[in-house]
Amino acid sequence: MTAPLVYANYGLPPDYEALEKAGVDVKGKIVIVRYGNSFRGVKAKVAQDHGAVGCIIYSDPAEDGYAQGDIYPKGPWRPVASGQRGSVQFLFQYPGDPLTPGKPAIPGTPRLSLEEAYADIPRIPVQPLAYDEARKLIEPLKGPVRPRGFQGAFPFPYHVGGTNDVRVHLKTDMDYQSRTLWDVVARIDGAAEKDRWVIMGNHRDAWVFGAVDPNSGTAAMLETARAFGRLLKNGWQPRRTIILCSWDGEEYGLIGSTEWAEENADELQQKAVAYLNVDVAVNGPNYNAASVPSLWKLIRAATRDVRDPKTGKTIYQQWQDRAREQRAETDPDLNAEARIGPLGSGSDYTPFLQHLGIPSTDMGFGGDYGVYHSAYDSFYWMSHFGDPDFLYHIAAAQLWGTIAMRLADADGLPFDYTDYANQVRDYFNESVLLAKRRNLESAIDEKPMNDAVKNFTDEAARVEKERQKLVAESEKSSASAAKLRHLNDALIAAERAFIDDRGLLGRPWYRHEIYAPGIFTGYAAQPLTDFRQALDDRNTTNAKEGLDRIISAIKRATDVLKKGSE
Ligand SMILES: [Zn+2]
Repeated sequence: MTAPLVYANYGLPPDYEALEKAGVDVKGKIVIVRYGNSFRGVKAKVAQDHGAVGCIIYSDPAEDGYAQGDIYPKGPWRPVASGQRGSVQFLFQYPGDPLTPGKPAIPGTPRLSLEEAYADIPRIPVQPLAYDEARKLIEPLKGPVRPRGFQGAFPFPYHVGGTNDVRVHLKTDMDYQSRTLWDVVARIDGAAEKDRWVIMGNHRDAWVFGAVDPNSGTAAMLETARAFGRLLKNGWQPRRTIILCSWDGEEYGLIGSTEWAEENADELQQKAVAYLNVDVAVNGPNYNAASVPSLWKLIRAATRDVRDPKTGKTIYQQWQDRAREQRAETDPDLNAEARIGPLGSGSDYTPFLQHLGIPSTDMGFGGDYGVYHSAYDSFYWMSHFGDPDFLYHIAAAQLWGTIAMRLADADGLPFDYTDYANQVRDYFNESVLLAKRRNLESAIDEKPMNDAVKNFTDEAARVEKERQKLVAESEKSSASAAKLRHLNDALIAAERAFIDDRGLLGRPWYRHEIYAPGIFTGYAAQPLTDFRQALDDRNTTNAKEGLDRIISAIKRATDVLKKGSE
């Protein structure tokens, strides 16, 4: 099609409001939007919902190019002729095969029609573009000049266009076919608890070479597997089963992991202890992690036992020092721990945590990564910029293996729900502040939530004491060992209790009441999701309903913990 071009900044709802104010309508037009501030699938959906007939997404040098630093091959940042590929599936609706939501894409499963699948993929053509090409389209635009926040790093004032001066002919060549994907799954059976699974996962498919994404993670997985093999030969066998998964089709929409999780949903809900994801293991030296709060202490403990290759300090110390530096001006609390982020979406932990309620983690080492999803994510890039001596690859494998082995071998599972309870309380307090700023506080009855969180906190503290006691006794007493196993099961099941079978509002595939990606963030988590979204929408009915469901989920988790130590 051919239509006038409109520059719509990041392509998010406030940008379209700004365009409307400037008198520019995108209906029937093609929009060009820059990467940043949300997952690209959100940009496609928002463009389509505003009536645009096509969407071009480009990397502006402000966020991803020369404004950040030297560009490849002189430095690690995106060169002018590089575009960022990537899925524009509506992952925030549901991931996996768009034709089989909630069900495994195996022979015999009925498929949706393409028309029905448009709930999960764009109807309009969407095209990624390198910034030297994008510049040719943006520079000649006329119309209103740079609404607030619209200017990027090209050396001219950005106009929004929408006039007939710049018309774009957009044609994409789509290849809609069903193809076979291959997940590779290996397992080491547990000696004492074969039916308790510690699952490690990483994807294997890449856009182009994928030296960083995902092959740094795949290298770490293979090294971890090799180490497990060595240990097995020396007579070690884990107490619980360890499963290693190499996923296919992640880049298209978390397909390999989602379909496997959907196929094995019942068994996973009974047996999975935790899911440990590594996607990008290394693109620099800075450790980062995201996780459910019950596993924070385990992650921190593992980072204390692995060395940072550059500084010789522990990973923990390097991580804390860096966090303290970044915080120095805003937060004088020198003892605060480095933050472990919430899990949203964008990698293979999504089906495990958000569809099935399996405690999950994700981690890696980050740095100046300017070649994401491009042909420059290569061995040359890694060996010159990302990790020239490949030492952080080793650290990643050590950390990942250590966490897996501790979960597989510990008598008492190292889960701590006190951190979870505190985190949920913080999320709620933030939401209440937000509601007050928006004059919506009359819609919130704080007491039932505060009571539920208080009970959860008390129960979590009690269970942790009980767990420590049983761990100490279990060596000598078989009665204590049996009790400990009962308690372990409760620690696993407490996360499951956050699942509401009805699913989140308008997107039933997402069922976790605490963690899900936001509808307008796409990747980033929006904790207490439905409640928070309702506050953004100023919808008091949904806010009440959302909060009620969260309270029920917390009560269910509290009950599970209570029963675990009876
Ligand atoms: Zn990846």
